[in-house]
Amino acid sequence: MARSAARLPENAPGPFFVDDTCIDCAVCRHLAPSVFARSSRDLSFVSRQPASEAERARALMALVACPTSSIGTEPKIDAGPGVGAFPEAVADGVYSCGFTAESSFGAWSYLVTRPPGNVLVDSPRAAEPLLKRVEEMGGVRSMFLTHRDDVADHASIQRRFGCERILHERDVTSGTRGIERRLEGDAPVALAPDLVAIPVPGHTAGSAVLLYRETFLFTGDHLMGSEDDGRLHASRDVCWYSWPEQVRSMERLLDFRFEWVLPGHGGRYRASSPVAMKGELERVITEMKR
Ligand code: SF4
Repeated sequence: MARSAARLPENAPGPFFVDDTCIDCAVCRHLAPSVFARSSRDLSFVSRQPASEAERARALMALVACPTSSIGTEPKIDAGPGVGAFPEAVADGVYSCGFTAESSFGAWSYLVTRPPGNVLVDSPRAAEPLLKRVEEMGGVRSMFLTHRDDVADHASIQRRFGCERILHERDVTSGTRGIERRLEGDAPVALAPDLVAIPVPGHTAGSAVLLYRETFLFTGDHLMGSEDDGRLHASRDVCWYSWPEQVRSMERLLDFRFEWVLPGHGGRYRASSPVAMKGELERVITEMKR
């Protein structure tokens, strides 16, 4: 729970505040950009108090999504509307789970609802209100883990829903050795007619992205929207395995058709068409080679 006594001095006066436990994951800034900003100390703060019901609702979503409970209100405001807003619809059958986990450094996770069985992409915090809602939406049949860093509460979610966890063998660690299915090699794997797993070594050796309906690409930490300009971006600063490999993996994505990029960290990106997405990807690859 955020502590008023530890509120950052940068916060605008008013009920919402960020305290000194912020880890700069950017979740709040993506959820409520008119309320939260990044300070010169690389921490989030309340740059402007919510001025409407809509802004207040977004700020409450940020409060419950924050992985470190660094956002608070004084006097206390009921966070119920923020809790009930997740999973948040992103597009037809695709939802953002909010409720990020500190062990994943606030990585986004997503729920895909589909008749053959729902898919969870990466693991959210196993918060009961979220899991109850996911249960009402049909539960989870598969949990696709994009890479070793964003597995969070995968074990308790597997126990709750009995889902099959999928992770590339190169990213299996002692904490995930019990997973049900391991991807191997670098060739794409059709998990179902509408789902393709594509290994993309680079950020980690076993990073993989998930393509759904040739429209949505869940990219983990391989590719993301930039907070600065909203364009697509790959981060050399957080490339833990191999940048040349990550460039090659990015080039392989040119063979696939999609319009959305839904990352673990950073912003979502939607192109106007698959052709426009390909052009944006080519621009990213050119930048990566500089
Ligand atoms: S969501 Fe929480 S931890 Fe992340 S930047 Fe905002 S206040 Fe900091």
